[in-house]
Amino acid sequence: MTENEKYLVENYKTICYNVNEASAKYADGRKVRIMGVTKTVDPQLVNRSIDLGVDLLGENRVQEYLSKKDIYKPCEVQFIGNLQTNKIKYIIDSVSMIQSVGTLPLAQAIDKQAGKHGKVMDILVQINIGSELTKGGFEKEQTDEAIYAIEQLKNVRVRGLMTIPPPGCGEDVFDSMHRLYLDMKENHDHSGCFDTLSMGMSGDYVTAVKHGSTLVRVGTALYGARIYKK
Ligand SMILES: *Cc1c(COP(=O)(O)O)cnc(C)c1O
Repeated sequence: MTENEKYLVENYKTICYNVNEASAKYADGRKVRIMGVTKTVDPQLVNRSIDLGVDLLGENRVQEYLSKKDIYKPCEVQFIGNLQTNKIKYIIDSVSMIQSVGTLPLAQAIDKQAGKHGKVMDILVQINIGSELTKGGFEKEQTDEAIYAIEQLKNVRVRGLMTIPPPGCGEDVFDSMHRLYLDMKENHDHSGCFDTLSMGMSGDYVTAVKHGSTLVRVGTALYGARIYKK
């Protein structure tokens, strides 16, 4: 048994406990989904986590995902990474949502592929809430207009917002993201399915739940430190 395998049970319990506690304390017990973020993680370890109850996986890289997807036990998968338009076709039939839609051309390309595959793809609109140069996503001020444009596309459905707050940022940033989410829900929830705020990672998921997150994306805290192979 590897170190990461040994700690997995305890890690998962801790995360569930913390999420439930934060939800009970700050969010009227709102249901919060826990996503296991699998980049660099051995697919066998991912399968252990599915055995424990993890029912949603987050994938960052198309190539890596394709090499692992047939090893995974049955589990819902969503895409959360940088997505090149020419790679959409490889994942569109096996993921339930693309969370990382941070440009209009990407939304348009997903629409086109979804149309070809005869489906409507759920997406989240990614927001660069810290206006960081190194991060993708729409600026807060562009969000309303961006969603309006994406709503015109027939084969995508906007389910909410996704963000990666700057490391170490204050709670005001999480709060401003929550308010943006509520505003956008008010403007764009035409069919009752604008219901997802994907926010919070290993270091900040409790803060995120406190500020309205409905889905936390947890990698390191669940599977252990990532080892990057060259
Ligand atoms: C890697 C990653 C995560 C998980 O990060 P941890 O800090 O390991 O929990 C969450 N979201 C995205 C978009 C990621 O790329």
